[in-house]
Amino acid sequence: MNLAEEIRRLSKNKKAVILAHNYQRPEIQDIADYVGDSIELSRKAMIERDAELIVFAAVDFMAESAAILNPNKRVLLPTLEARCPMAQMLNVEEIKKAKAHYPDAPLVLYVNTLAAAKAHCDVCCTSANAVEIIESLDAETVLFGPDRNLAEFVQRKTGKTVIPVPEWGFCPTHLLFQPEDVRVLKMQHPDAVVMVHPECSFEMQNVADFIGSTSQMCRYAMKSQAKTFIVGTEEGLLHRLRKDNPGKKFVLAYDGAVCPNMKLNTLERLYAALKEERHVVTVPEPVAKKARKALERMFEVTS
Ligand code: SF4
Repeated sequence: MNLAEEIRRLSKNKKAVILAHNYQRPEIQDIADYVGDSIELSRKAMIERDAELIVFAAVDFMAESAAILNPNKRVLLPTLEARCPMAQMLNVEEIKKAKAHYPDAPLVLYVNTLAAAKAHCDVCCTSANAVEIIESLDAETVLFGPDRNLAEFVQRKTGKTVIPVPEWGFCPTHLLFQPEDVRVLKMQHPDAVVMVHPECSFEMQNVADFIGSTSQMCRYAMKSQAKTFIVGTEEGLLHRLRKDNPGKKFVLAYDGAVCPNMKLNTLERLYAALKEERHVVTVPEPVAKKARKALERMFEVTS
């Protein structure tokens, strides 16, 4: 049996749409209907009006967002254990403590949070629109969670006081990148452009020519005249970058930058989830309602 063909056949029969995050394995990206970042994908699912099933090859919070934004469709996560450690770093208790300390500061949460956390924020953001969202707020002090590096990036860009909640939130994969590795690669590829994700450390951001989300990196690489790029984000994005830019060279800034949680999804697990329609992700409606409001507010600001 050709698994990829069987997945496509099942998907068509079940009126499913397969979404793959940019960090998924190449073979999953290749069979997906759409490849992109988390919110891009949830919105794609929203416009697929005939779809009854969403198979979201990604991690927990992304499938939750898709379920929140698509209440009439069932959302499947191929591997239930695929959880983002950064999203787990922010709980409701931490949010309540921060709000008690700064009662007048709005709370902005990165979409890399669980639905229960999103339900307590004023507005969500992505790494692509975080600066725009913070600028849109009529407040000079803003609470921001859970990624400390993204909080610092936004603070530098907006000039506002951005307080990280919790103080220490981070993505374990993006913290693996080190400026020293980039310096060595620059010696090998002196003309290369360095692109990094804002989840990378401040030191990494300082050696970058371009800082942006995965979708922004894809657009930047397409438009750029450069022929070689050193990339500071999870290795899965390189598959898409290489596919979209056949004449250009992409080098990962650190070979070990693999998100083990994203890589829990395999073609076999995706096939099993789709065939048995298992691992349905649900969010209780009272939580979903509040979280949806925060996501919709983000869409209003950035539309
Ligand atoms: S790359 Fe980082 S933020 Fe993204 S899912 Fe993995 S651990 Fe979470």
